[in-house]
Amino acid sequence: MMPARRLAAALVGLACLALVGPSEAGAEGRFTSGEAPPGGGVAIAVWGGGAVADLPGAALAIGCDLRSAWATVSGRLLGSIAGAPAFVSAEFNQQFGDGIPGGTPLILLCRARSGSVAPKQAWAIPASYPAGALQYDRARYAVDTRVIEGTVVEVAVHRDLAAAARIDGEAAHSVASFADLVSEAFRAHLGVFGSFPYDRYRVVMRGPGDDPLGSSPTSEWGLGVPMGTSVIDGPAVSGPPHPYTRTSARDWVVHEMFHAWNGSLMRPQPAGGPQVYQAESWLVEGATVYYTARLVDDAFYAAELRDATQDYLAAGRDGTLSFAEIAARTPAPAGPGLAPGYNEYVRLLYQKGALVSYLLDETLRRSGSSLDALMRAMYGEFGSGRQYTNADVRRHAIALGGGGLGAFFDAYVEGDAALPIPSTFVYLR
Ligand SMILES: [Zn+2]
Repeated sequence: MMPARRLAAALVGLACLALVGPSEAGAEGRFTSGEAPPGGGVAIAVWGGGAVADLPGAALAIGCDLRSAWATVSGRLLGSIAGAPAFVSAEFNQQFGDGIPGGTPLILLCRARSGSVAPKQAWAIPASYPAGALQYDRARYAVDTRVIEGTVVEVAVHRDLAAAARIDGEAAHSVASFADLVSEAFRAHLGVFGSFPYDRYRVVMRGPGDDPLGSSPTSEWGLGVPMGTSVIDGPAVSGPPHPYTRTSARDWVVHEMFHAWNGSLMRPQPAGGPQVYQAESWLVEGATVYYTARLVDDAFYAAELRDATQDYLAAGRDGTLSFAEIAARTPAPAGPGLAPGYNEYVRLLYQKGALVSYLLDETLRRSGSSLDALMRAMYGEFGSGRQYTNADVRRHAIALGGGGLGAFFDAYVEGDAALPIPSTFVYLR
């Protein structure tokens, strides 16, 4: 709630600003005037025109970590509370469903900003990315944005999905519920890596038939995650409603988002072979499976590690192959830029990678460190362009957990020793 006296003062300011003329050209999606007090509080700013979903990001650009935005309509004050359930801001959203006109003065309530957030790099899609991977069209996508540690987390869901997809029989992808899931995963991953370098992170949940990536609808490009629908459905299902379960949807979103750090910002040096997978893929995919299992829920965590163990044991002698040898047995893509292809060695790489990640976490924790600390150290050195090999992972592991970690890598990452699978997997804390 806004204290009455501050609100009254703000309204006087609003009345003055209302005399300001029409909006500037090219001001769409940002404020044309206004500045937030450094310690948080009330700001009055003139909107350049555009969608309600753009407010949090635009507010951040003028120094306001947005708590709520208020506008006067026919003498009444309507508010939009950032991140609140949709009904809270229903009147505001109804009034401005087609966008807030340019030149509209708004009162912004801003949180005190924590001084510890490092400056962010401006979000831009590198030219090397597949065309359209992170683009979407506002007319066909519902958008929700949140601000987390100085990054605008922008979530776009195809309106057909928001309307029709079901998880366990419930509406699955209201943009707000999907944004909740994305925010939760973003915060959790941020907790592992410690930072995200860009001022924007975009997740695009694509609708059927709206997939610029063709045969490879899901991937991860560091600045956000475009998600296709066919990942879970398989090619036989052409449209909604989709047979997701609550858990499979969480698994998929949390996994792909982890790759924004592990696999996109932090990349192994290409091995140069015909395969997409290589000796370092145990960390790229295995650690991602492990961290995803940790985040989804306890039952899923136990089930994932049990599954991984079953697949590992079922592989027999192949299970003890080094990761380089397993990767060499994965199929090469049919052509440049095409999907990596799949066989039982791809599955083994993921599953053995998850088990080795668990065992490495356990080993590091015995010496007072953790896989979190290793991921963070790797991200610190390799998160902004330099590429790593398994030798670098080993070096960081030894620095954190002592010389015994060298033997771990010799045996389970680069060697052919059988994994010491525990009889039960505990949740490592
Ligand atoms: Zn993956």
